[in-house]
Amino acid sequence: LWSRCRILLKERVGAGSFQSWISPLRLASVEGGVATLTVPTAFLGSYVARNFQEAILAALAEAGGPASRLVFEAQGRTPMRGAVPMPAAQAAAPMAAPALAPEPAEETQRLDARLTFDRFVVAKSNELAYAAARRISEGMAVGFNPLFLHGGVGLGKTHLMQAIAHEMRARRPHTRVLYLSAEQFMIRFVTALRDRKMMDFKQVFRAVDVLMVDDIQFIAGKDSTQEEFFHTFNALVDQGKQIVLTADRSPVEIAALEERVTSRLQSGLVVQVHPADYELRLGVLQSKLAAARVADPNLRIADGVLDFLATRVTSNLRVLEGALTRLCAQASLVGREITLDLARDCLGDVLRASDRKVSIEEIQRKVAEHYHIRLADLIGPKRLRSFARPRQMAMYLAKTMTSRSLPDIGRRFGGRDHTTVMHGVRKIEELLGTDAQIADDLEILRRALEG
Ligand code: ADP
Ligand code: MG
Repeated sequence: LWSRCRILLKERVGAGSFQSWISPLRLASVEGGVATLTVPTAFLGSYVARNFQEAILAALAEAGGPASRLVFEAQGRTPMRGAVPMPAAQAAAPMAAPALAPEPAEETQRLDARLTFDRFVVAKSNELAYAAARRISEGMAVGFNPLFLHGGVGLGKTHLMQAIAHEMRARRPHTRVLYLSAEQFMIRFVTALRDRKMMDFKQVFRAVDVLMVDDIQFIAGKDSTQEEFFHTFNALVDQGKQIVLTADRSPVEIAALEERVTSRLQSGLVVQVHPADYELRLGVLQSKLAAARVADPNLRIADGVLDFLATRVTSNLRVLEGALTRLCAQASLVGREITLDLARDCLGDVLRASDRKVSIEEIQRKVAEHYHIRLADLIGPKRLRSFARPRQMAMYLAKTMTSRSLPDIGRRFGGRDHTTVMHGVRKIEELLGTDAQIADDLEILRRALEG
């Protein structure tokens, strides 16, 4: 369970934060809705509780060990229950208030209380998406059905979507807003099928006023899930209910979607969230810093540090945010001002990663070369061990050295499923502990790619 969670979390919080904060944690137990994690120090525990609680709860739920509360135990000490600042219910306080959420809790995935409109920085790259989201949340969105937001990873799609949900619930407490990831939709659907509860499933999904499905590209190629989604979608649109979807690509670019699904998705408003430019990156940093200062008024940061970050960390806003969070934590830990030097030291890995962008193609070429096989065999369907292992290695490198998602990587490996990629990544992870040859190969390839 925990290893599945770790994979999910690494993807969500970014490799840097993951390394600093999540990787030292161990899951001791999940019992009675309480997940107990052991941490090396109390400081780490309270930091993780403050910053990653929601992410960990979400990952646990997705990995099949749902819990509603986290408890951190410092290793070799008594449980630090008292030190945990906020149980999950409180963290999502605005949502949990009975007046605001009339529907049963299990109907909706937990919203992140921080992802609101007033914390969203508007710039050229996202102003259309922002305007459309605002309109929808005000209930003025005639003809915007569905609203389809698409764009690369970490550009604010989930943020906007959840902001719509928060706003709608605040304005009209009785509106039934159902927010979930496409993956969650699939899990619910498959579970309902297995337990012969399809009637219940349909009832839940058809009784909502607003349906929000995040990362819809996930269901592409999953035929029965896609089919059910299509029916749900049609039923809701026919009743005049609002639908909001996000994806990492536009409807036409989601290759494995059926034609009729694609055309329905395009029938509303399709808006792209573009990569963040310098102004937006700086704006996001300033707004996060302001929030961090509320928590720690002693936080000092030298001139030029934000500019440095905004200039150097360009890949996505999540990574950028993670970098700042890490810096702030580091600075308050040692009680020092955040200087450029501290930033360089503390963010070495993040900066290196954005110094050089490695492409999947490059990885594939180098791996094929290294193992003396043809590129076509690396990507192709053959399952021979002599191709499969290099293929898994290439998938592992693609996952760890690029910001591509698992489905995205799968597509570039001859249209494989994301689960195949995940399996490949895990296989290499597993082998790294036992097989010195694999570890050597990895080291050589990494160096070659980092150039
Ligand atoms: P996506 O769903 O597109 O992958 P997210 O919505 O999860 O991206 O955004 C990644 C992180 O960046 C989140 O913490 C989010 O709050 C932050 N973020 C993205 N865009 C903005 C913005 N315009 N203003 C403030 N924060 C933002
Ligand atoms: Mg998202």
